[in-house]
Amino acid sequence: MIEQGFVYSGNPARVVFGFGTTAALPEEMARLGTRRALILTTPAQEDAGQKLADLLGETAVGVFPGAVMHTPVDVSDLAADRARQIKADVVVAIGGGSTTGLGKAIALRTGLPQIVLPTTYAGSEMTPILGETSGGQKRTQTTAKVLPQVVIYDVEHTMGLPVALSGASGINAIAHAVEALYAREANPVISLMAAEGIGALARGLPAIAQDPANRKARADALYGAWLCGICLGSVGMALHHKLCHTLGGSFDLPHAETHTLILPHALAYNAPAAPEAMARLRTVLGADPALALFDLGRAVGAPASLAALGMPADGIARAVDLALSNPYWNPRPLERDALTALIQRAHAGAPPL
Ligand code: NAD
Repeated sequence: MIEQGFVYSGNPARVVFGFGTTAALPEEMARLGTRRALILTTPAQEDAGQKLADLLGETAVGVFPGAVMHTPVDVSDLAADRARQIKADVVVAIGGGSTTGLGKAIALRTGLPQIVLPTTYAGSEMTPILGETSGGQKRTQTTAKVLPQVVIYDVEHTMGLPVALSGASGINAIAHAVEALYAREANPVISLMAAEGIGALARGLPAIAQDPANRKARADALYGAWLCGICLGSVGMALHHKLCHTLGGSFDLPHAETHTLILPHALAYNAPAAPEAMARLRTVLGADPALALFDLGRAVGAPASLAALGMPADGIARAVDLALSNPYWNPRPLERDALTALIQRAHAGAPPL
């Protein structure tokens, strides 16, 4: 890779990582020169938002506990109006990808800076990507205007993340890093982060499934999620992400669980065309990386198969047609028979070949 030359472009976020790092929030607001925070949460995490408001005292001017999945445009418009009304000069988002998405949507509308406190492993806080929905349609854009200025990773906020959500969102994060290793724009710096991120999550996730209160495992997983988020935000994705998008959209399958089931098979498919990525993966996942990812899914209690998620067997041919109908870059060309076999194995819950 190095002899062929490369382009590396870093996204400029300030990251504060550790246990109890939320205490740095007032100082981080001051560093940005801000004094009026609008705090964002989902309805389920309103208490966490209220705690931040208590910490900030008079520099918190409002809590908006209305973040929901898929970042609907009407919710974002409402929240941006609220930010203008109360003269907020910064948005502080505490939560998963849905809450981070709302913060990005407000930043896009108002130009306000963002501080994010992630509570899942989704990684959206490290990407310039925003997907918004309106009238049932999802529109995704990539713009530096939605990049958060500061991310405070406080492992304490992830201690209560349910085991199933931890496993699914963690393997979803691994998928970003796996595809970054063989991306068209792959570069040595992102590959370092990808391998380190995959290793940290592969260590942390099974230990969390055994004991959700394991603090070292929680720290490993959040650290890995950060690095995998950088990978997603820096280079393009390939077969795995496109297949998951097609399957999720066409058969209404859950996002993170679909990633968990497809990843071992997509990697096995691309392995012959991605020797450098495979060599890198062997250093963190062992001799058979695709099988290791399959076993990891089992270890975190993921669903057994696409069939178990509700995908009908007669949908396999349609999924292959859809995957072939919209060509995109992938290290290995898209081949009908091999793709059919890939989806059949994931549908049956079989290990990767
Ligand atoms: P989420 O933000 O939708 O959260 C799911 C639920 O879990 C919510 O009810 C939330 O309140 C709750 N929750 C979050 N953290 C918790 C915790 N620590 N303890 C208990 N409950 C908690 O889920 P997610 O997986 O973080 O994000 C998914 C969304 O993010 C999707 O819409 C996805 O498209 C988007 N996403 C975007 C990007 C990007 O780059 N734009 C990247 C990754 C994901």
